[in-house]
Amino acid sequence: MKSFVYQNLPMRVVFGDGAITQLPNEVERLGARSALILCTEHQRASAERVAALLGERSAGIYDRAQMHVPIETAQEARQMARALGADVCVAIGGGSTIGLGKAIALTSELPIVALPTTFAGSEMTPIYGITENRLKKTGRDPRVLPQSVIYDPSLTSTLPPLIAATSGINAIAHAVEALYSPDANPITSLMAEESIRTLSHSLPRIVEDSADIEAASNALYGAWLAGACLGAVGMALHHKLCHTLGGTFNLPHAEMHTVVLPHSIAYNREAAPEAMERIAHALGATDPAQGIYDLAAKLGAPLSLAEIGMAEDGLETAAQLATENPYYNPRPIDRASILELLTNAYHGTRPSPN
Ligand code: NAD
Repeated sequence: MKSFVYQNLPMRVVFGDGAITQLPNEVERLGARSALILCTEHQRASAERVAALLGERSAGIYDRAQMHVPIETAQEARQMARALGADVCVAIGGGSTIGLGKAIALTSELPIVALPTTFAGSEMTPIYGITENRLKKTGRDPRVLPQSVIYDPSLTSTLPPLIAATSGINAIAHAVEALYSPDANPITSLMAEESIRTLSHSLPRIVEDSADIEAASNALYGAWLAGACLGAVGMALHHKLCHTLGGTFNLPHAEMHTVVLPHSIAYNREAAPEAMERIAHALGATDPAQGIYDLAAKLGAPLSLAEIGMAEDGLETAAQLATENPYYNPRPIDRASILELLTNAYHGTRPSPN
């Protein structure tokens, strides 16, 4: 076995159907008395349920969380936390809402209790992102790692199938790249393979029946493992491409991950054979790139960049931006090959077998 470094992050997880009722205990454990509750406008009703559960410990609700954490939103929410004298943030929602909690924690050190309602996995990472002047800056900071995560599968039952499917494939993307990360180690690889297996088996059941609690539990477990992989090891080409496309062309985050992932895998297929074998095995497929593409198709998720609003004349710029700064990837990066990858993703072509 090759040498490696593995650092466990200090996570506390409360998991199970109805686990949301444990929230007051989790807030009390932190010694907190005054919670600012975060959500999107769309999830206001869930936040009100949280406020009712917290009773006097609820200081107020900030319901304007948005995709990619605009700096103006972060500043407004930080100001509200200060004005209310909040000593904890309770984030109920997907990666965007949890991301807002992280932006508050970054400057105030307020602890976060996260109640994830999608499968994106942000609650398990010390990674934050804030968007200023259309540029999303990301970083790692232990202060933004939630202190407690409550996974309650009943919270995902209202998820529209498209968000369930694409946030789940976003999580699979973390696990895929963890398997060929330069920091890959036996622990994260074990988590990654299990994550791909549980998500790929449970997502089709959830898309068919959003009230399938057993499937939602499995998917949340898979999302947890995927997020833990993202938090523990470095990512490669796929995440770089999605960051570039998302930032420059303002494409929807989870849908973009879903469209690009089969093509990123096909690109790296021959350079990371052991990882690819594990991905294919977890998917129950003969080829890892086709396996992910077929999963997305089965889930009714978008398959092409064209479908999600990318303009064809942006592909050259995207290839240029994605190759500008060198970064780790199992297969060397060159502009022509990346343009080919992006062109296949643009058209939604099914990857050919290896
Ligand atoms: P999201 O948080 O943007 O949510 C998408 C929409 O779905 C929102 O309108 C939200 O209100 C709604 N929604 C969420 N849960 C719902 C539910 N149960 N029922 C009904 N509606 C619901 O989507 P996401 O995919 O979870 O997060 C994407 C964001 O997370 C991106 O900005 C991405 O960069 C970030 N992210 C960060 C990390 C990290 O480690 N920092 C990891 C993954 C994703």
